[in-house]
Amino acid sequence: MYVDGYGRFWVDGRYVRAHRFAYELVVGPIAEGLQLDHVKARGCEYRHCVNPAHLEPVTQQENIRRGDACRVAAARMADKTHCPQGHPFDEVNTYHDRRGWRGCRACRRASGRRRSGRRAAEGSVA
Ligand SMILES: [Zn+2]
Ligand SMILES: [Zn+2]
Repeated sequence: MYVDGYGRFWVDGRYVRAHRFAYELVVGPIAEGLQLDHVKARGCEYRHCVNPAHLEPVTQQENIRRGDACRVAAARMADKTHCPQGHPFDEVNTYHDRRGWRGCRACRRASGRRRSGRRAAEGSVA
């Protein structure tokens, strides 16, 4: 059996999440469409933990709801088609920052102009 650094391994030609496999083995099958949430409140912070006692099958929405604010914001952004200023998130107007978040080029250009204008006024270079 091959195990990689992400807690996944091959079983019967399938790529299986280790925590999912362990849960199904010990507790029982996970209903279609549900994800396993590692419940930190049960006293363990280990991200790749596969202890079925710490895991709970939840819907994707529930998993997102329980997640931190950044993940929630990213998920909300993902189904937006326009930025808050009404510019379309299309191929030309969309960029991704280092965190993988989507941004609006038109707004970035606008705020960049404002910033460089202020820098010029303050008399600094670059
Ligand atoms: Zn745990
Ligand atoms: Zn915009």
